[in-house]
Amino acid sequence: MKIRWLNAVATFALFSSLVPAHAQTPKLQWYRGNTHTHTLNQDGNASPDTVVRWYREHGYQFVVITDHEYVADVAPLNTLFGAEGRFLVLPGQEVTQVLADPTHPDGKRQAHVNGIGLPHTVMPIGSDEGVNIAKGITMSDTYTRNIGALRQAGALPQVNHPNLHWSVRPDDLAKIAGPFLLEVWNSFPIANNAGGTNEKGETSLSTEELWDVLLSRGQLAWAVASDDSHDYLHLDDFDSTRPGKAWIVVHAPELTPDALLEAMRNGEFYASNGISLEDYSADRLGVALSIKQPINPRGGKDNRRFTTRFIGKNGRVLAEVAGLKASYTFRGDEGYVRAAIVDSNGLRALTQPVFLDSRLLSSVGRRAVPVTPSR
Ligand SMILES: [Zn+2]
Ligand SMILES: [Zn+2]
Repeated sequence: MKIRWLNAVATFALFSSLVPAHAQTPKLQWYRGNTHTHTLNQDGNASPDTVVRWYREHGYQFVVITDHEYVADVAPLNTLFGAEGRFLVLPGQEVTQVLADPTHPDGKRQAHVNGIGLPHTVMPIGSDEGVNIAKGITMSDTYTRNIGALRQAGALPQVNHPNLHWSVRPDDLAKIAGPFLLEVWNSFPIANNAGGTNEKGETSLSTEELWDVLLSRGQLAWAVASDDSHDYLHLDDFDSTRPGKAWIVVHAPELTPDALLEAMRNGEFYASNGISLEDYSADRLGVALSIKQPINPRGGKDNRRFTTRFIGKNGRVLAEVAGLKASYTFRGDEGYVRAAIVDSNGLRALTQPVFLDSRLLSSVGRRAVPVTPSR
């Protein structure tokens, strides 16, 4: 098995050496965006104009409006706030799937899914009966149906806040085939990203551990960090559902809906709630990254410390590197390799896995050129 992989890589290396690097990869840029945003059209407390303006004025290049069961017309928003190559609004929706589950303390569970780039509303199962809660269906089957409907409409699915109300278990996501986004970091104050155990001894994985379970099964789940912002009136309150807490930075050839969706579908981005990368590259030999030196907001030297952990199948820590630069050379038996960066104040960034199988051949071409992110 391992030898076959090495042979395939060797074949790729021979082929790629015959093609000039600039012909293989278009010039890519980094675009920072938020994929989970609510407005006054549903339960957010500010108009789409105010929300979009906030993101445009705070260092973002795109925002996806994802109101519950409401797809905003982004054309007038882009006319007002869009700027070619600099800012873009994408349409979307949060499909607010709820289903009855008498075994859960709430009597129900939440299986919310965002559709990124969705042109029209997809109603959750059960909403046509006026009760807005599905009965007699499994979590897994709701994901299959809703993700199928979103893809059919040309949208990219994002599984939201798995630990909100302790709703999602690893097996609920096992049947999702094809690439999808997973909210490993949702900024809602009760998103429970870190997991935990209750007084009865019932334990839920952290969302990052849940992600490793999916990756170890070979599923193409890409980690997203997002705001799930609802509150634009209490921007100085960190506990409010305010914007600007977590984001992704997408590596794409241009700032268009098609280019962003294609890059996200291919896992060409990293997730962050405060750490910015200077470079990221992966090729057939390994992964290398450098972290942007932060600026001390109070002036003077910034002495934050950074730890990068390279993580493989089953969440195994393969290596740990201190400092602003980190690299890892593949051995070939890791299953996949991803980087999780944490700083000495608890901020984090996550890069997407590189699978050490035949998928490496299709992914390294696009990942091989280091460039400088816009932030
Ligand atoms: Zn939700
Ligand atoms: Zn939401």
